[in-house]
Amino acid sequence: PEHGGHATAAHHGTAPYLDPRLPVRQRVADLLGRMTLEEKVGQMTQAERGAVDSDQGQITDLKLGSLLSGGGSTPASNTPRAWADMIDGYQSHALATRLHIPLLYGIDAVHGDNNLVGATIFPHNIALGATRDPALVRAEEHITATETRATGPQWVFAPCLCVTRDDRWGRAYESFGEDPALVERMETAIDGFQGTRPQDLSRPDHVLATAKHFAGDGDTAYGTSTTNTYTIDQGVTVTDHRHFAAVDLAPYVPAVREHHVGSVMPSYSSVRWTDVPGSTPVKMSASKELLTGVLKEKIGFQGFLISDWEAIHQLPGDYATQVRTAVDAGLDMFMEPYSAERFEQTLVSEVRAGRVPMARIDDAVSRILRAKFELGLFEHPYTDRRDIGTIGSPEHRAVARRAVAESQVLLKNDHGALPLKPSQRIYVAEVNADDLGNQAGGWTVTWQGQSGNGRFPGTTILQGIRQAAPDVTYSADASAPTAGYDVGVVVVGETPYAEGMGDVGNGHTLDLSAADRAAVDKVCGAIRTCVVLDVAGRPQIVTDELPKADAFVMSWLPGSEGEGVADVLFGKRPFTGKLPVSWPRAESQEPVNVGDHRYDPLFRYGYGLTTGR
Ligand code: BGC
Repeated sequence: PEHGGHATAAHHGTAPYLDPRLPVRQRVADLLGRMTLEEKVGQMTQAERGAVDSDQGQITDLKLGSLLSGGGSTPASNTPRAWADMIDGYQSHALATRLHIPLLYGIDAVHGDNNLVGATIFPHNIALGATRDPALVRAEEHITATETRATGPQWVFAPCLCVTRDDRWGRAYESFGEDPALVERMETAIDGFQGTRPQDLSRPDHVLATAKHFAGDGDTAYGTSTTNTYTIDQGVTVTDHRHFAAVDLAPYVPAVREHHVGSVMPSYSSVRWTDVPGSTPVKMSASKELLTGVLKEKIGFQGFLISDWEAIHQLPGDYATQVRTAVDAGLDMFMEPYSAERFEQTLVSEVRAGRVPMARIDDAVSRILRAKFELGLFEHPYTDRRDIGTIGSPEHRAVARRAVAESQVLLKNDHGALPLKPSQRIYVAEVNADDLGNQAGGWTVTWQGQSGNGRFPGTTILQGIRQAAPDVTYSADASAPTAGYDVGVVVVGETPYAEGMGDVGNGHTLDLSAADRAAVDKVCGAIRTCVVLDVAGRPQIVTDELPKADAFVMSWLPGSEGEGVADVLFGKRPFTGKLPVSWPRAESQEPVNVGDHRYDPLFRYGYGLTTGR
């Protein structure tokens, strides 16, 4: 409100690009025709908010097209209004540029608007894959879009369309599953974010979505071969064109053609073709074959490509070569969090020297401007705060609670162990029963997430159980599980992580921790009926523990609504979740995926018992 808008009003009636009645295509062409090279390159540049916050005049000087909040880059006071004030402040500096082109603000809202304290925190994608419920996923992302845009960002770096093929990957939890067909079904997420009608994007309850990370991020080779050592995150997809098209590229076809996803983020990973003699790994950000040839030309992607965080710094050569390679490959906007100025100077001189064609710049800028027009930013550059009151509302949390319940996968249930009865004396053990941070996982308030309670609102699984049954005893370290309990509930699992190899605290393995294994032994040895819950972003190795438990439930990373777990434990809702990934017997069995030659997992893809209501 205090930030003008009068500047744009002065141009009304004179500049076609400011006339909302004209078609977007015409407005883009008009604006592009007025822009200098520096202004164009500015639109292609995205900086981290932390790099400009103390000197916001840089937004004007560098003519920045976009800002982002990397994980945990929040305003000092992490409230909806502080977010909106912060982003509107940046916007006023963008509108102070000669052509008053508004900023696009991007954020990782990957399971709710997860940077914001008080947002509804949904289960991570792997849990949503278990629901097999595309309508629910769409409803969830509509809520995420609403909560996010009310605080300022008009763009989210979600959904991840990764097809996870190896549970050792530390981002497996960001995937809807190992089967590309399942990932495709869950692309209703894009509709939830963006809406389906052209006018939806400009409304206060929608945001531009990003399909990431194009492509093959979940399908990298791992380990040491005779010729190479491979890491699994940001690794190398070693494959032939046929497999790559069928598994890794497949989800991007409907994402573009049916859901019209607005942006795509290329992966940090590389591809090495086994069907091309002498092929060496090529980073996705440098792959003209895949970014331009396949995604833009063959699949027909009309949106813009945003590079991942400093991804171009991983390309071979000096900085000028890296920039040139990535622009030539087809990247349109550059996430250069702390080197925006250097990026702009470099790209401007590459164009001036004739090493980057102006036509490529114009194509990139047109794609970016088109998104800004479609989002209605020229008409409404400042945050429409009308939906702030819905953030973390009971209605939104009820949808998250339902998602939690639908995502629980019942893998074993002998002797009628489940459902639990409110009349039972229940003994609950282990930290993950009562740790909101652990049950939310990575990308929650901070980038990596953090164990513990009290940093954001929500209910733990233990609190959910306590609401359902009056006689509950809890021990974080499984001490004294005797004294006549009817049932023991042991909640094992992982601690939070975002990228890399996952479960840092437990040495990056899929094994249960020693404490969790001991707790299963102790509780299942002492109490007649024993239920084990696994709170983790991916299957863990439970081959030895499974026979000791009467019931075993995969809870995934449920987020802020632990009551959803209690809902199925007590039979308030039926168990309906199905495994979105195959469950390995041992870590050495990885990768294990449905359709493999010798397919012999502990639990098959799609497995999951049901219980009646
Ligand atoms: C991640 C992306 C994310 C980006 C911006 C990167 O480290 O790979 O998934 O969107 O950071 O936070």
